[in-house]
Amino acid sequence: MLDINKIRADFPILTQKVNGKPLVYFDNGATSQKPQVVIDAISKYYQEINANIHRGVHTLSQLATDAYETSRGKIQSHINAKFAHEVLFTSGTTHGINLVTNGFAAILKPGDEILVSALEHHSNIVPWQMLCEKTGAVLRVIPMNQEGELIMSEYDALLSNKTKIVTVNHISNALGTVNPIKYMIDKAHKVGAAILIDGAQAVPHLKPDVQELDCDFYVFSGHKICGPTGTGILYGKEAWLNKLPPYQGGGEMIKEVSFEKTTYAELPHKFEAGTPNIAGGIALGTAVDYMNEVGFNNIQQQEKELLDYGTKRLLEIEGLKIFGTAKEKTSVISFNIEGIHPYDIGTIIDKLGIAVRTGHHCAQPIMTFFNIPGTIRASFAFYNTKEEIDLMVAAVKKAQLMLS
Ligand SMILES: *Cc1c(COP(=O)(O)O)cnc(C)c1O
Repeated sequence: MLDINKIRADFPILTQKVNGKPLVYFDNGATSQKPQVVIDAISKYYQEINANIHRGVHTLSQLATDAYETSRGKIQSHINAKFAHEVLFTSGTTHGINLVTNGFAAILKPGDEILVSALEHHSNIVPWQMLCEKTGAVLRVIPMNQEGELIMSEYDALLSNKTKIVTVNHISNALGTVNPIKYMIDKAHKVGAAILIDGAQAVPHLKPDVQELDCDFYVFSGHKICGPTGTGILYGKEAWLNKLPPYQGGGEMIKEVSFEKTTYAELPHKFEAGTPNIAGGIALGTAVDYMNEVGFNNIQQQEKELLDYGTKRLLEIEGLKIFGTAKEKTSVISFNIEGIHPYDIGTIIDKLGIAVRTGHHCAQPIMTFFNIPGTIRASFAFYNTKEEIDLMVAAVKKAQLMLS
């Protein structure tokens, strides 16, 4: 079991007051808070070893390079990638997806099909639409049911030898649905399609094993797993990363440059043009270490209790409806109260120190599906408590009284 007081003491921001009230931070789906060890890793880099990586023979440059590559190795073992060079540093999930869609522009032909799920974040929709415009490929959507679960029989029916790539999130940011990605990966491969998994909402809750999953690409952001903003990972199978053309040209990604012809560097550097977020990349490794020390079994147990308790307490409120009732879901509760705009509730409870997200959560097609303008989303992390849920429920009740 987690010693929750000890865990909370790791996060300096959690002792803050907001609008004169103790902060209740339930916007973990948007970004997580950072433990002191991660904050320290960033300042330690700048205080002790700041230098550019992979370039200098001087001592600081070597220390910085070692720290950066050590972090890559930590992430490799965390997700069980076969090779360290299959683990690319990016600025986040959005960057990782765009890197892949850019590469597929060189592969797709008019009439090829891309399957995307109805549950996606805009950053896993728009780059594929741009790719379709560039190539003449066609985007097809895997539908969902009223619970917010993807319909696997429809997925099976959409797959064909025209399907070149499938893209789906591991866990939905708007509803918390855990998708059956192992099934989806195997089915995609049966028709010869590649598959990308958007793991942005999964990595805060579980440890993906990319070899066991056998996915072709797995992307996530550092800032949702206690790491810094502007960091992320694109895992790609070696064969795919060799096949895709580079995304950006620049320093660090070349072998030899002349005005006649340039040759590209080996993986992973082929995809890592320019000076990266060195401090961030190092601190992302620290964040992964921290999450593993807390332990994913402990994280899941705590979050399951919060989900069950939060669901029960919120449903006490008259007129409250929860969107996303999948059998498999994580600690996200998206809800509305009859007759009240989600934004109004969000604004009032913010005055009471409660941070939740209101709106479409970068997933407008899901809101359109349910025919609502948006929801109030409470997303819990392992450092949250039942007492905080009580505070939120009391605040929502108060807001309801004021607004009705
Ligand atoms: C947050 C999120 C993204 C976008 O991540 P960025 O860090 O903004 O690049 C993409 N997909 C899902 C499911 C997300 O939750």
